[in-house]
Amino acid sequence: MSGKFFKVTIKREECISCGACWSSCPEVFEENEEDGFSQIVEAYRLSGNIAEGQVPEALGNCVQEAASGCPVEIIHVEEVGS
Ligand code: SF4
Repeated sequence: MSGKFFKVTIKREECISCGACWSSCPEVFEENEEDGFSQIVEAYRLSGNIAEGQVPEALGNCVQEAASGCPVEIIHVEEVGS
């Protein structure tokens, strides 16, 4: 597989449920119904892990904006691929 994509990680245990990420980038983030913390939407989860996702290049701006808008800075975005 070629092309760029972004690996996204949420340190869920430190989430304060402010809602900024799922407001600014609902394509990738959503609120977990049980604990109220942010999670990756099902379509982009890595191996079913709600705290880790892989998103296509087209959603790069979306996830980076969410990461910079998180008040406790627990969303980590890493560019992968060439
Ligand atoms: S922006 Fe950060 S603190 Fe707020 S809901 Fe998302 S992950 Fe949690």
